[in-house]
Amino acid sequence: QAKAIGRNTYSFFTKEMNLTMTRRFEIEGQMHGALERNEFDVYYQPQLDIQSGHITGAEALLRWHNPILGNVTPEEFIPIAEQTGLIIPIGKYVIKQALQFLSEWQNVDQQKYKMAVNFSPRQFRDNELIGFIRKSLIDTNISPQHLELEITEGVLMIGKSYIRESHLELHKLGIKLSMDDFGTGYSSLSYLRQYAFDALKIDRSFIDGITRNNEDYDLVKATIAMAHSLRLVVVAEGVEIREQLTLLEELGCDYAQGYYFSKPLTAKQLLELKYTTKP
Ligand code: C2E
Ligand code: MG
Ligand code: MG
Ligand code: MG
Repeated sequence: QAKAIGRNTYSFFTKEMNLTMTRRFEIEGQMHGALERNEFDVYYQPQLDIQSGHITGAEALLRWHNPILGNVTPEEFIPIAEQTGLIIPIGKYVIKQALQFLSEWQNVDQQKYKMAVNFSPRQFRDNELIGFIRKSLIDTNISPQHLELEITEGVLMIGKSYIRESHLELHKLGIKLSMDDFGTGYSSLSYLRQYAFDALKIDRSFIDGITRNNEDYDLVKATIAMAHSLRLVVVAEGVEIREQLTLLEELGCDYAQGYYFSKPLTAKQLLELKYTTKP
């Protein structure tokens, strides 16, 4: 009896492991050539100025539809793209698409919107990175201050000197740098001091609790005050309900993004969107 259970348990774990290994292997296999087959799409989620209630920009979010795997979420494929180095060409594609769209969006609405693009640690290791970004800005006629790169603190934890150097170089070019998912890692504060940041994005997990528990409310309040004293602008991620927005406005948070305003949209949908929280 005991032996039978043992054997079953063993085979159960093996199956589980095989499943994740197979999935990983399939994703990696399909990711090669996915760019050439045009399987990636960039979606855009609007960001709003809380004071005015107007859209001031958007965050570019990558989507992948593969004929065999179907839709694969960024949570699943981005880490694999990072490990394989495929994030370098894929990341360039996102920057290019996002800037091209930004140029069209600015022209259509006659407004200086900003575009935020997520940025992976591995992309810093690309020697062509700075040159590529500079050329993309020139080609699309976008000024550097309208491009924002979102970096998670995990990137900085790597602590490599090339990261520090590239970060500083991007800053000197006039590109905005924001710390994404603030509060989810550790020693975020010391990174804010060591690197030139312009903005801080409070992670959605904290915004989620502000209307329900005092700890999250106090943390968000302290984060906003701290960020402002460091002359950083603050973006709240994952705003889903009116009550969260009201509290964030009271706390002096600068920008907000979330399903309450809009989910990520296709370029076409965003061009058609006319949205404001205020008349
Ligand atoms: P992130 O940069 O923190 O992006 C915010 C995520 O929260 C997005 O998920 C967005 O769709 C989702 N979100 C926005 N508002 C709400 C809300 O009100 N409620 C909830 N529940 N979720 C909301 P998504 O698009 O699945 O992306 C997940 C992560 O994948 C991103 O987190 C980012 O770290 C990464 N990612 C996405 N696109 C790229 C990319 O082009 N390059 C890199 N390096 N990473 C990317
Ligand atoms: Mg982000
Ligand atoms: Mg985030
Ligand atoms: Mg995230």
